[in-house]
Amino acid sequence: MPSRHASPAGGRSAARLEPPGEDAPAPLARRARSQLVRLATGLLCCSAAACSGSEDDTAPARPNILLVSIDSLRPDHLGCYGYERDTSPVLDELAARGVRFDQAVSPTSWTLPAHATLFTGLPPEGHGLRVDATALSDEAVTLAEVLADAGYATAAFVGGPFLRTMYGMDQGFEVYDESVVKEFRASQKGATSPRLVGLTTDWLDDWERRDEPAPFFVFLHLWDVHYDYAPPPPYDSLFDPDYEGSVTGDDFETGNQVRLGMDPRDLEHVVALYDGEIAYTVHHLGTLLDHLEARGLADDTLVVVTSDHGEEFFEHGAKGHRKNLFDPSLRVPLIMSWPGRLPEGRVVESQVRLQDLPLTLLAQAGVAPPVGFAFAGPGAPQDLTPLMASDAGRGPDLEAFGDLQGVLTTLRGEGVKLVRTTDRGGVVEHELYLLDEDGESLAADDDSGPRLAELRQRMLEWKQRWARRRPLSVEIELSDEQTEHLRALGYLR
Ligand SMILES: [Zn+2]
Repeated sequence: MPSRHASPAGGRSAARLEPPGEDAPAPLARRARSQLVRLATGLLCCSAAACSGSEDDTAPARPNILLVSIDSLRPDHLGCYGYERDTSPVLDELAARGVRFDQAVSPTSWTLPAHATLFTGLPPEGHGLRVDATALSDEAVTLAEVLADAGYATAAFVGGPFLRTMYGMDQGFEVYDESVVKEFRASQKGATSPRLVGLTTDWLDDWERRDEPAPFFVFLHLWDVHYDYAPPPPYDSLFDPDYEGSVTGDDFETGNQVRLGMDPRDLEHVVALYDGEIAYTVHHLGTLLDHLEARGLADDTLVVVTSDHGEEFFEHGAKGHRKNLFDPSLRVPLIMSWPGRLPEGRVVESQVRLQDLPLTLLAQAGVAPPVGFAFAGPGAPQDLTPLMASDAGRGPDLEAFGDLQGVLTTLRGEGVKLVRTTDRGGVVEHELYLLDEDGESLAADDDSGPRLAELRQRMLEWKQRWARRRPLSVEIELSDEQTEHLRALGYLR
């Protein structure tokens, strides 16, 4: 069905940053925070999963943590999520050895705010990175900062322009390597995964040579699945070897060869190229996992693979992402594996959110979050450890709010999604969508009465609450180089 909710304009014009409020969260002084973390770490009994099997019962096991974000990766294009193409053998194996979350959702549909949520546990309304020229302020407390304070060695290797250090997401990382973004800035077509994986394995080799290696927290942002879709051979023809047309995955966003109403056969080919990028990227992630295995690190490492958002191929009239908050760009994969510590082959069916990851990883590491970390109250992040430990793999769906630049707000719950749209004149419209295996469809008026009213009320309370709080963001000036890079990706118009 065609989209009924409007696409907000990209860029600064769509800014809806809330004014500072009186009940803004008081940031902890950095030193005080460190003391709190150390105290809490010392006292904390680690999660049951992390403690079981520990050789020394007095010392909580502290895993290494490898957190991988594969940009723009749709879960339904992975074998372990039921896709018919063999795009993801490495991830399928990882899921078989660990826990796969069947319904994980992003708080938005683009890179910058999604990663800020992944690092802080805050929604876009809370961290405030909702337009292109905003960065995380030093007041924000990130997952890397908490782990570093608890003694972790921290490093990040990033591949996309919204992960540049200018956006403040390097907080807490000893090493934050953005060299690949600079090297490949002129092209969306270059294949960056081998380089990113190589940097990561080089760092791991150095880490192993340290006198007293603390556990590591490595964040790896893999970029190749993000458009353009131009995978190197043989991945360019892997899933559509017989195509004889002329359409490519080049200039996917900015060009018009990929457009609504295009020949379905050509669109099929574009999707096959997207799938080729997935297979290529997953293959290279496999070389990193092989490296962990070969160095004897696999059993001590919690591996988490997710994405920042999905991708659309006109299911609702749009291509790419950052256009709306329909499921093709809102849902993300989430797989966690820690051999011997997390259940094997478990599937969690309940809805979970990217914002739940920081608390979950801290719990797995046996590190208590500092007071004031993320946020409390309705919609707050949850530690997913109990859900992973549950034989049923099912608990209540965690209600998931979504935001796109203050123009669209969604509330996704069990079987339903409320979409609130504000048009340029400030007029607000609410729509209720019903979710099932075939996707989402607008509810008939008969279906939407009491449920719609209840969801509208919860969404109103959510918005009022964040409107009173000061976001943890600062405005930044984009360099000419960064502006050019983002324009080439179609982000600044
Ligand atoms: Zn992204």
